[in-house]
Parts: sequence; C-alpha cells; structure tokens
Amino acid sequence: MAGGLSDRAGKTYKGKPPLLIQGAMKVETSHIVEQLDALEEYRLGEWYFASGNYHGVPLAVSRTQWGLANAAATTALAMEFFHPCAVINQGTAGAHDPSLKNFDIVIGRETVNISAWKSHFRARGEGVDEEALDKLGVFAYDKEARRFTQEVCHKADEELFRTALALRNSYKKGSVTEGVIGTADSWNCQVDRVLFLHDFYGTAVEEMEGDAVAQICQTYDVPFLTIRVVSNTVFAGDVDWDLAVGAALQEYVLAVAEAYMKKR
Ligand code: SAH
Repeated sequence: MAGGLSDRAGKTYKGKPPLLIQGAMKVETSHIVEQLDALEEYRLGEWYFASGNYHGVPLAVSRTQWGLANAAATTALAMEFFHPCAVINQGTAGAHDPSLKNFDIVIGRETVNISAWKSHFRARGEGVDEEALDKLGVFAYDKEARRFTQEVCHKADEELFRTALALRNSYKKGSVTEGVIGTADSWNCQVDRVLFLHDFYGTAVEEMEGDAVAQICQTYDVPFLTIRVVSNTVFAGDVDWDLAVGAALQEYVLAVAEAYMKKR
C-alpha cells in the first residue's frame, strides 16, 4: 500500500514538531492529507505517513491500518520519526450508547481496552459466562512511578480534550458529546453484549485503536486524544457501517488541530 514511497525508517523528520493525526484507513485520513500544503509522503516500515501544513500549522498524518498492534507500532514509529507535540487518534466507531446515531461524534474523555479482563473461574462442564469478568487494564509507563503500571483507563490530555469539546457547536451533522472510548480487536454485533460492555466499562463507542495509542503516548509522555464518529450502531438493527462519516469527522479534527496548535 505504501509501496513506491521512499522508506525513511532510521532517519528523522526535519521541521517543527507537528501534531500527529492518525486514522486506520484511507477513507479515515485522505480528506486531511488532501488539505495539506507542502505535502510530503513517507513509508516507515510498511505503513503510510504524511506531513504538511494546514492553515500554517504543522501536521503529520499516519494511516495505522486496523487493530491494536498496528496502532501501537505506527505510534512508536511516529514518535521516533516526527517527535510529535501531540497525537489525535480518530476514525469510525460502533455505538455502545443506545442514544448515539451515525454521524454523532464522541470526544474521548478516556480510553479503555475492552478485551483486558480476567474471567471468574469455572470448572469443566460449568459452561461459559461472558459477563463474569473483572477489569484488568494494560501496561503503560508512568513517569511519576518510573515504571510500567497497569491501568484500566487512560485519560485524554486536558488541553486537547477541552479544545475539542469547545468546538462542538460548529458541527452540524450530528451531536458532539464526551465519553469513554472502548478498544479491542473485535467487532460486537450482539445488542445484549454491547449493552453489557456499555454498562461494565461505561463506554460510549467501540473501535480498534484508541487505547493502544493512548498506552504508547503515555509511555512517551506525549499529549493524546481520541475522537470518534459513529459509523454503525447495533441499535439500528443488522445494518452495514456508513463510511461517509469519515470525512465529516476529519473536517472536525482539522479544526481541533488548528485551534490547539494556535494556542500553543
Ligand atoms: N467490518 C470489518 C471490520 C473493519 S474494522 C470487517 O468485517 O472486516 C475497521 C475499523 O473500523 C477499525 O479501525 C475500527 O477502529 C473501526 N470500527 C468502526 N466500527 C467499529 C465497531 N463497531 N467495532 C470495532 N471497530 C469499529
């Protein structure tokens, strides 16, 4: 996918530290890339990255591909190459909150890995109870404790979070609310399972990257925020996801990035 671009692994980006915006797929990043001046495109490993200016503000873009491993790997590569001043992970998500509809945006107050749990013991023949769980959390470096600590939730950076929320009245395609963003390498289609996760983890939406990125950003001590747009909801029945929501969110994220960088 990133073939043909020069491989910059091992080299360093020259320029002011950009704000890094990530999206898993082309439809989740291309609208941003198209609006960059002085666009440069790179390959680090097999992943696509870009840099440029938006309204005079330096941005980097990363197409992470789906899932936690890709999200974590691309974040670490971007840390070493771009030395970003902040990271916004954004893209599509499935609703856990029944009141959310397609095109609604959720600003992540915190992220949680919804596959990090320990099930209660049951002996052979006692069956499977997918709700008999304790939250487990995942490990990220804690600079105060000076070691990797296990945490269920990773809080968004206050300033990024406030900046994103302050723009909410500018969005006309749906609602903008704050909430918990759940991450796992899974796609839940059972309404009762979704309602259980919503209740157990307090999640507004689910996706596949946010908390993995949060872990790496905490480890590098770089400000982090996830913003997601609902592309599917089990509460509307067994319907496909709507990829048209991707560009609407990218427009919002560009405004957040510009406002944040101009305040610095
Ligand atoms: N439906 C696809 C899976 C694609 S996952 C399939 O069947 O192959 C693609 C991206 O969508 C991920 O990057 C994830 O962050 C996001 N996403 C959108 N809705 C999601 C949901 N309901 N659950 C998990 N990830 C979701």
